[in-house]
Amino acid sequence: MATIFSKIIRGEIPSYKIYEDEKYFAFLDINPLAEGHTLVIPKDETDYIFDLSDEILSGLSVCVKRIALAIEKTVPCKRVGIAVLGLEVPHAHVHLIPLKTEGDINFSKPKLKLSQDEFRSIAASIRKNLELK
Ligand code: 5GP
Repeated sequence: MATIFSKIIRGEIPSYKIYEDEKYFAFLDINPLAEGHTLVIPKDETDYIFDLSDEILSGLSVCVKRIALAIEKTVPCKRVGIAVLGLEVPHAHVHLIPLKTEGDINFSKPKLKLSQDEFRSIAASIRKNLELK
């Protein structure tokens, strides 16, 4: 069965899209730890990140870097943190989270509740900063 992330890639489930190319896709996490919390995924459905081919994993890292730099330009933060859990959705993904303090990357914390307009505006700003690169 297709993962929820494959459905997002195909547009069957809406998302606040940040980036897409032939192999990768990025979108805002719907339960963010911080404004700008983004997920970057390979389009090919593989559960465990370390089962990805070297080629796809390397490409994912480059994509993650590009998007992290755009997030950093968009959201006031000290730096962008990176995490891989995969405990909930069995489709490899990297979390990018703007950090002001160490506690901002604590996944046990209550998630932010943002309005649709807030999600849309953050996504548009990150996309703009991606284009400027
Ligand atoms: P993990 O698998 O890394 O433990 O967590 C999966 C992440 O995906 C969670 O942070 C969760 O909020 C996010 N997520 C789960 N379902 C959806 C969805 O339908 N849309 C979006 N944008 N994010 C989702």
